[in-house]
Formats: sequence, C-alpha cells, structure tokens
Amino acid sequence: MDDNYDVLVAGGGLVGATLASALGRRPGLRVAVVDKSPPPPWPGGEYDVRVSAVNRASQTVLGNLGAWEAIEKRRAHAFCAVAACVGGDGEVLFHAADIGETHLGHMVENNLIIRALTERAGDSVVRITDSITKVHQDAAGVTVATASHGELRARVLAACDGPGSTVRAQCGFATGGGDYRQRCIVANVQFDGDHRRTAWQRFLPHGPLGVLPLAAGHCSIAWSCADARAAEIAGMDDAGFTAALADALDGRLGAITKVGPRLSFALSHMRAADYVDRRVVLVGDAAHVVHPLAGLGANLGIMDAAALAAPLLEAHAAGRDPGAQLVLRRYERRRRAENATAQAVLHAFNLVFTRDHLQSGTAGMVDAALTLANRVQPAKNLLMQLAAGLSGDLPALARPVLRGGA
Ligand SMILES: Cc1cc2nc3c(=O)[nH]c(=O)nc-3n(C[C@H](O)[C@H](O)[C@H](O)COP(=O)(O)OP(=O)(O)OC[C@H]3O[C@@H](n4cnc5c(N)ncnc54)[C@H](O)[C@@H]3O)c2cc1C
Repeated sequence: MDDNYDVLVAGGGLVGATLASALGRRPGLRVAVVDKSPPPPWPGGEYDVRVSAVNRASQTVLGNLGAWEAIEKRRAHAFCAVAACVGGDGEVLFHAADIGETHLGHMVENNLIIRALTERAGDSVVRITDSITKVHQDAAGVTVATASHGELRARVLAACDGPGSTVRAQCGFATGGGDYRQRCIVANVQFDGDHRRTAWQRFLPHGPLGVLPLAAGHCSIAWSCADARAAEIAGMDDAGFTAALADALDGRLGAITKVGPRLSFALSHMRAADYVDRRVVLVGDAAHVVHPLAGLGANLGIMDAAALAAPLLEAHAAGRDPGAQLVLRRYERRRRAENATAQAVLHAFNLVFTRDHLQSGTAGMVDAALTLANRVQPAKNLLMQLAAGLSGDLPALARPVLRGGA
C-alpha cells in the first residue's frame, strides 16, 4: 500500500492542532489529522468551561504559527501575577514586573486555540473525523485502522490522542504513574470583587484551588479535591456550590454573584518511558500527564509539538525519511528530561501542600515558610521565568524572532 501521508496526527486537541499547523506550513509535506470530533466552532457568548493558562512560550508558538492574532482579537485575558497561599496570611506573590515583563500568561478557552490553529492550517492539512481503533507498525510505515474511513498509512504517526492514548496502548509503550485519588472541578464563576489580573492558588487540605482571571469580574476555577470531597461537591446545587466555594476562598475575591456549569476530571500522573518507537512518536498528554495545579500540561505539550516539528520539517526539506529513528529521537532527547523535571516538581508540590498535615499542626509552619519564601526574590524570578517559558531550552518556534523554518 502507498503511503497516504508523510505525517498522520492522531488527535486534534491543543497539541495535535499545534503540530498539524506547524507542519502544514511546509508545501509538499502531506499531513492529516484524525480526531473523533470535528474541530470546534469559534466560541462566542458565555465562556466555555475548558480554559487554559497559556504561558509566554506557548503564546509565541501560537504567534509564530499565525494563530495568536485571531485569539487575542476574540478574547484572551492576560494575568500579570500569581499568588500562592495555604490559608493563613503567608503568601508567595510572583509579579511579572519583578522580571521586567508586563504579564506572565493569558487565560484562553481551549476551543478558541484549536479553532484558530485549524483556520491557520486551512487546506494544507487533511481533517478526518473518525476514531483510531488499531495501529500496525512495520519497517516502512504505520497503518492505522479507523472506525469508518478504513485504513490510513503514513511514514510517521504522531500520537496526540491525549492521556488515554489508543495509539500508545496499541503500540505497547511502557508507562509509569499513578492515580492522585483527586478530581478537579472546573467552572466559570463571577465575583463582585476585582481579580487584579492575578491567578490565585490556594492549597487546601483536600487539594489546591486555582482561581484564574478572565474578563473583569469573571474567573475560571480549577478546584482539585480528594475523591470523596469531589463527590460531595458534584452533588451540590448552585447555592450549595456557591457556599462551599465562598468558604474555600475565604472571601478573597469578594462575593460570588454567579456560578456556571461544572465539569469534573479524574487526576492522575503518567510518564511514558520512551516517546519513540518504530515510526510512532508520543506527544503532549499521550506522553506525560501532570497535575493541573500549575496550569502547565498543555504548555508542555505545545512545546513538544514545536520541538517535534523542527526535525520533521528538516528531514522533509533534506529529502530524508521523517520517520527515521534518528529524526524522531532528536525530539525525544530534547523534551523527555524537561517534561520529567516539570512532572517531578508538580508532583512534589501536590504532595507537600495537599495532605492531612495541613489540617494538623504543621499548617502554621507551611504558612511561615511561604512568608519567608516570598522574600527570596532571585529564586522567585527564576521560577517565574521557567513557568512563563521565558528561559530554558526553547524550540525555535517558541522564540520571539523566528529565524527561518521551524
Ligand atoms: C482541569 C484541568 C485544567 C487544566 N488547566 C490547564 C492550564 O491551565 N494550562 C495548561 O497548560 N494545561 C492545563 N491542563 C492540561 C491540559 O488540558 C492538557 O495537558 C492538554 O489538554 C493536553 O492536550 P492534548 O492535545 O495532548 O490531549 P487532549 O486535549 O486530551 O486531546 C486529545 C484529542 O485526541 C482525540 N482522540 C482521543 N482518542 C482518539 C482516537 N482513538 N481516535 C481519534 N481521536 C482521538 C480527542 O478527541 C482529543 O481531541 C488542565 C487539565 C485539566 C484536567
């Protein structure tokens, strides 16, 4: 069977859409995206409940792909500070001005990012709405069985099909990880107070509660709770949920005036031992799943997509096989250690700040430690630069001035 495509992207979520858009810019490279669902329409009216903190590096990738302008024109909300506390007065405040920046990131609806990327890629990328059911690898390519489009064949299969990746399972990639026994409840909420363009993170005994600024008076909340508490919250009506949230926030942002529909996600961490195997490459949540407490998962995945696009495009330009192990390993080398470090830090944060000890006598100590940490400005600046994606080993697409190709 002839190859249908050079690169087949399994999954057109935030990460798959980024990769497809980066590859679709190169004439002559045959790229297709297969996703169970069609690309979302432009969001309008009320905010969609799935919203992400997009850091500076991801913003640059989206800008270099020509998608950021359309996003910003519709609605993207810059935040210029992040404040973390455990409940008392102790707080660590990270402010963009301390590192000479105007903002640390933007809050953007996931569907808006996917739509903008899809529009930019346009007809240069084939879109197939279908489910991948089976994958077969051989020396020359990868054959993918779909539920209703028969078999598709490509020289490279990029698995961007999320945490429960069918491709990863089909190809037998080894993974490690575990269940946090937490769920994250997300909702859009309105307050009568001013969020001051600050993202708040409150570490509560059951798990971290993030309040992320949208338009004035509007916030997105991401409330991670132990399973039992999450089940209680899921059973609450609007009034009960409002009261529980107000209690958890301790009046920080004023009175809650409206709560939107809630979604809840089981939380786990996962790490693939290898990202590459016989023309199949894992990208984004298919390769690594992190706790959402720092809003980093999609940002790591967008960096993966930017880092993978570079060797694929180079191989294509040089007339080499983009599925060669050497080509794909370049991506793996660049991203695996970086993702593992981020994962370890987030895991440790969740363990340290979210346990019964915060209910026992040590909460005061953690509070005091935060007050102290707030004074260590150089360490704070370093953390801020890393989280915003302003330092570290950034792929070319994530650098503000694009020097040719990806
Ligand atoms: C509550 C919560 C809040 C978060 N907040 C943030 C944040 O603020 N900032 C941030 O950076 N990250 C955040 N994250 C993490 C972020 O959402 C994920 O890291 C990101 O969505 C991963 O993108 P992805 O494209 O790899 O996978 P997904 O978003 O899971 O997309 C996978 C795609 O593959 C498709 N697919 C799956 N299986 C198949 C199949 N068999 N055949 C065809 N298509 C298939 C799906 O339809 C989907 O479109 C958050 C996560 C959670 C749970």
